[in-house]
Amino acid sequence: MLDLRIGAATDSGRVRAINEDSILTSGFVAAVADGMGGHAAGDVASRLAVARIGKVADDHDALRPDDLIGAITDANADILAAARADTARAGMGTTLSGLGVVFVGGTDHWMVFNVGDSRVYRLSDGVLTQVTVDHSEVEELVAAGVLTAEQARVDERRNIVTRSLGTDPAPHADTWVFPPTPGERFLVCSDGLPLEVDDEQIRALLHAEPDAQRAADALVAAAVAAGGRDNVTVVVVDLEPAPEVGPDVVTAPRSHLGNGSAS
Ligand code: CA
Repeated sequence: MLDLRIGAATDSGRVRAINEDSILTSGFVAAVADGMGGHAAGDVASRLAVARIGKVADDHDALRPDDLIGAITDANADILAAARADTARAGMGTTLSGLGVVFVGGTDHWMVFNVGDSRVYRLSDGVLTQVTVDHSEVEELVAAGVLTAEQARVDERRNIVTRSLGTDPAPHADTWVFPPTPGERFLVCSDGLPLEVDDEQIRALLHAEPDAQRAADALVAAAVAAGGRDNVTVVVVDLEPAPEVGPDVVTAPRSHLGNGSAS
């Protein structure tokens, strides 16, 4: 199995009275959900989403991609049912982004998943890449060439998501499945982080702090210090190099990490 180190932090920020983001750090799955809906219903929606993903992670020793995709569909149904049972929760919804370790073709792989505008980033060799594509109105305007990425960060439409959980029919979740690389680091975050901290600052903070928990704390603190206009939630996932388990195997290929060292 992969050796992961996970750090997580959240803050309601300086403006919002409550925190509608939820975190999952369950074994080999990490996720962030950013709820929306009045009367604290967003908080209910985001908690329902991470609860369903946490349950599927707990129920399986070796997760398959379809297990996670099924759990996202189930989370959508859970939120719809809860909204229909209580008119104060009508229309509540949530984003959901994260990554898990899945078993594909006989080996462990990462699976990144996304619905909405929370994000998963990957840091490798000091280079930060956004893995997910935001399901947001401004992302579509950037793709169409109407806005630049920098304009999108401050555009008043930045909060409008084009996909979320809590909708009928259920949204399609984007997924990416790929083999792990020793030393890589992932960041899962709600939009309250990139709202306040640009990608270069995120990269620099992630690169400077080797400890996953301290890195998560530093990112949340930076977002709050920069304004904290929204709830901010961060999960940092590190893939550790395999520990040395004995003199016979120190130099052995790490065959559980994909297909050896071929590239
Ligand atoms: Ca948010």
